[in-house]
Amino acid sequence: MDKELVFGHQKPDTDAITAAMAFSYFQNQLGYETEAVALGEPNSETQFALKKFGMKAPRVIETAANEVSKVMLVDHNEPQQSVKDIDQLTVTHLVDHHRIAGFDTAQPLWATLRPYGCVSTILTEMFREKHIEIPADLAGMMLSAIISDTLLLNSPTTTDHDREAIEYLAKVAGVEDYNKYGVELLKAGADVDSKSDADIVDGDAKTFELGGVKMRIGQVNAVELEDVFKRQDDLEKTMKSLMADNGYELFLLLATNILTSDSQLLVVGDSNLDKVEAAFGHKLGDNKRMDLPGVVSRKKQVVPPLTDAFEG
Ligand code: MN
Ligand code: MN
Repeated sequence: MDKELVFGHQKPDTDAITAAMAFSYFQNQLGYETEAVALGEPNSETQFALKKFGMKAPRVIETAANEVSKVMLVDHNEPQQSVKDIDQLTVTHLVDHHRIAGFDTAQPLWATLRPYGCVSTILTEMFREKHIEIPADLAGMMLSAIISDTLLLNSPTTTDHDREAIEYLAKVAGVEDYNKYGVELLKAGADVDSKSDADIVDGDAKTFELGGVKMRIGQVNAVELEDVFKRQDDLEKTMKSLMADNGYELFLLLATNILTSDSQLLVVGDSNLDKVEAAFGHKLGDNKRMDLPGVVSRKKQVVPPLTDAFEG
């Protein structure tokens, strides 16, 4: 059997990196030959988790067709979020918890899609269904991925499956108090002062095309939103240059307070601002921002209302 590569989305978060590691391990137990790789370096939160559980980051690749013909995707399916030569590859497996958009295949495939808070939760259930033991260090990473994706079970994307998986993985990983560890992990990823302007606006950004409008939506976690917006002038410059380079018509930055689970949205662009305002039912202030109390999930609370406003 030919070797296959397993990877998550570009600008990988803790789940994208961890799900690739965990699904690769799972498939290798079943007799496949796979390697987990990543479409970017781990962010500061993921690095904190890797260090805590003594694991190494997967190798970073730019393209895949130069090494393999088949791949397995985790934590994404939209082609513009994948490896740039995805059109030259056969996707044999997909494990995801996002909307399906623009994903076409020439061949039948194994796909496991569940609307949970985290792919690592889906994988936890897949391991348990097949009675495959999860090594303690990998369980620690999967625990970290669920904490990251669900903001320590506070995001509205959280399901009972995530709550059950987190309890189980904490036991396997030997983490006594996952709430205490979770705050440490989220804080490691929310150290805004240590990040460059590009890291803040684009470090966790994804491209969406809604109603024919190409937009970039970034998200940054912080302990205090003032730590983000005291740099607003510089952040806007970086957003505008990324828009010019990549043809985004709009750039939205969701800054999320990890302790209160509230956000502010910064919107940069010359057109369609009325649609963004309509999407959320709030006006943008003179500072180009709007308060979004209780909003923490781009997937569940930002993309769907934007989709309605731009495509409805
Ligand atoms: Mn992700
Ligand atoms: Mn995820």
